[in-house]
Amino acid sequence: MQPPQLIPDVSLRPFTTLRAGGRADWFAQMRSVDELAAMVAACHQGTDPLIVLGWGSNVLPSDAGVAGTVIINETRGLTIDADSGVVEVDSGVGFQELFLKTAQQGLAGLEFAVGIPGTVGGALVSNAGAYRSNVSEFLSEIEIVHEGERGWVSPAWMEFSYRDSVLRRQNPPRAVLLRLRFKLPPGTPKAIYDEARDYQRQRISKQPPSASAGSFFKNVNDADLAQRLETLPPKLKEAGVVPAGYLIESVGLSGHRIGGAMLSRRHANFIVNVGGATATEIRDLAALARWKVSEAHGVTLEPEVLFLGRWD
Ligand SMILES: Cc1cc2nc3c(=O)[nH]c(=O)nc-3n(C[C@H](O)[C@H](O)[C@H](O)COP(=O)(O)OP(=O)(O)OC[C@H]3O[C@@H](n4cnc5c(N)ncnc54)[C@H](O)[C@@H]3O)c2cc1C
Repeated sequence: MQPPQLIPDVSLRPFTTLRAGGRADWFAQMRSVDELAAMVAACHQGTDPLIVLGWGSNVLPSDAGVAGTVIINETRGLTIDADSGVVEVDSGVGFQELFLKTAQQGLAGLEFAVGIPGTVGGALVSNAGAYRSNVSEFLSEIEIVHEGERGWVSPAWMEFSYRDSVLRRQNPPRAVLLRLRFKLPPGTPKAIYDEARDYQRQRISKQPPSASAGSFFKNVNDADLAQRLETLPPKLKEAGVVPAGYLIESVGLSGHRIGGAMLSRRHANFIVNVGGATATEIRDLAALARWKVSEAHGVTLEPEVLFLGRWD
């Protein structure tokens, strides 16, 4: 028997920023941490899959649907102690809202969050970041439900690396993030807002405004490849980093379309939904980019976007 708050057969399309994908077998929206924890613990008693989503800004649910239960995390609690810099935040709070509220209290560190859509929980799962910073840097504790048990763990539990954590792996532990504690350094409001504004300006000039999940693939850390690419800017050569968008553009796929899915002309690592794209069209376009880049450069692009549900 399913818990009574669950609704059967709900389309996930409106709950993803790509505006694509199929239906969840069971669906719920949770507004308090206790309610979320209880629902997760109840689901952990069974064997059906459970997926908690924030804004759906980093996922692609299959057109064939998602088995088990999908919960949208709408928890909103946030407390800030400006003197100590200790911040406790529900995992459903917007990452940008967290930046704005902490900046207002004179706390620095999260300037890079400006322009990253999604919740703090979603940010942690992919160790979201930009401009050489990432969300795990200032994290001190995480409250989770793991196999039905609620408790606080250290950041080491997440096994963070570049755009990755244990919760992104194949067969991840059955766990949901409830609340997070950060310790942020003090900063002067002018410096904080100037830095954030600078990042925002860079984003506006580079990112397409259409429906997307942001960068579809992770950038490639490969010093040899970086040296071989004659037109790669010197700064990137030095760092040994090759942007996925550079590689996709180099194989002539910028602007390429399959149905309603297009590799953006403005930023080739963004797959945009230019109207009615199916999840399959988006997946096929990503597979084409991956194949062409592998043929031309001998590297396999790793998706940053997570594929959910019933894929072949
Ligand atoms: C225009 C645009 C720009 C972007 N720019 C950036 C960028 O600069 N840097 C960057 O890193 N990312 C970027 N992204 C990607 C995305 O915004 C981030 O990965 C974001 O942090 C995801 O948050 P979310 O709440 O939308 O997660 P979702 O997409 O809802 O979920 C992502 C994954 O996390 C899991 N998850 C979510 N919440 C929880 C929870 N509470 N407990 C357990 N698991 C959970 C989900 O099950 C799923 O597997 C961008 C996306 C867009 C659309």
